[in-house]
Amino acid sequence: MRSFNIAVFAGDGIGEEITKPCVDILDQVISKVGGFKTKYEWLSAGAAYYLETGESLPQSSMDKARDADAILLSAMGLPDVRYPDGTEISPQIEIRMELGLYAGVRPVRAIPGIPPALFNPESHDLDFVIIRESTEGLFASHGKGEIINNKTATDTMVITRDVSERLFDFSLKLGQKRKAQGLSSTVTCVDKANVFKSFAFFRSIFNERAAGFSDIETNHMYIDATALNMVQKPHRLGILVTENMFGDILSDLGAGLIGGMGYAPSADIGDDNAVFQPCHGTAPDIAGKGLANPTAMFLSGAMMLSWLGEKHDFEPATKAGQMLQEAVDLAFSGGDLVTTELGGSAGTMDVYNAVSSALDTL
Ligand code: ATP
Repeated sequence: MRSFNIAVFAGDGIGEEITKPCVDILDQVISKVGGFKTKYEWLSAGAAYYLETGESLPQSSMDKARDADAILLSAMGLPDVRYPDGTEISPQIEIRMELGLYAGVRPVRAIPGIPPALFNPESHDLDFVIIRESTEGLFASHGKGEIINNKTATDTMVITRDVSERLFDFSLKLGQKRKAQGLSSTVTCVDKANVFKSFAFFRSIFNERAAGFSDIETNHMYIDATALNMVQKPHRLGILVTENMFGDILSDLGAGLIGGMGYAPSADIGDDNAVFQPCHGTAPDIAGKGLANPTAMFLSGAMMLSWLGEKHDFEPATKAGQMLQEAVDLAFSGGDLVTTELGGSAGTMDVYNAVSSALDTL
């Protein structure tokens, strides 16, 4: 039987609490669909591991992650655990850089039954995608910024032709897939090309690549106007492709539109590897209380199955990914499963039980 090796980083804070339920729900959907199985390798990394060992991402974990068919990661880092330079432990950023996971896919899809943040009636059917470049941009300065004479600090943004071309091609191809599914497919390059040379370069490469996709509508928007449009007219958006730091900020805004961080999944995809993890961090304020919403983690798991299905042209995995997303939608559709994040009482295991029961009925 076909088997996929999944590298799992349970991480820190609420990461540890949502990983096991996610693996259990993946096992449930996989055995329901049949035709394949997954083997999990639990790997060490993160802030707690750094406290114990002085290392945040051991080479052995990195090597095993690289060799796996896919990487499932919850969240890593704790505010009080820092490197000597004051920055937080963030192996997830190192993994993205090391494996060249340039396309950070952050779907902003309203789950039926979750009250939207906006009053606009159309925001009930939001379905757009942010593609955050995840290996360069301002984050290229991670660990490299400088403070000169305690008077001036600098961090440098890097935009390369090679990564930008692959990022835009990925986004334009996603536009084609969404168009075929009848979903909004306009691809918009989000930048600040009116002020920065690096963004003017980013935009010019976007135009070059877009010229090769005549079937897809394309557009440009400045980052400030994008923030406005995400609140005022989010239902008109298709795919927003942008630099790393802008994407980081916009994806939290996107999460806010669909109920909060606990509902926002993501995938960081490269040419050979991919990491699937919720958009949120380790949420130390609620860690250890059983309150974390595992929905974003479950949906990230669903994205992993769909990606495996597409990459290997293997229908059962695609089907399992779709079914898990359907089960999440079904669990919330009645409106009575209200997570603590939205003022209700449903904690991690309540959501797990509801999604698991929904799966049983599909
Ligand atoms: P990072 O910088 O690592 O992305 P962050 O500082 O943006 O992390 P998060 O850890 O994402 O912060 O938390 C932001 C807020 O969202 C916190 O109040 C946290 O409790 C809440 N939150 C995050 N994830 C969840 C979740 N899965 N369920 C419920 N609440 C969450």
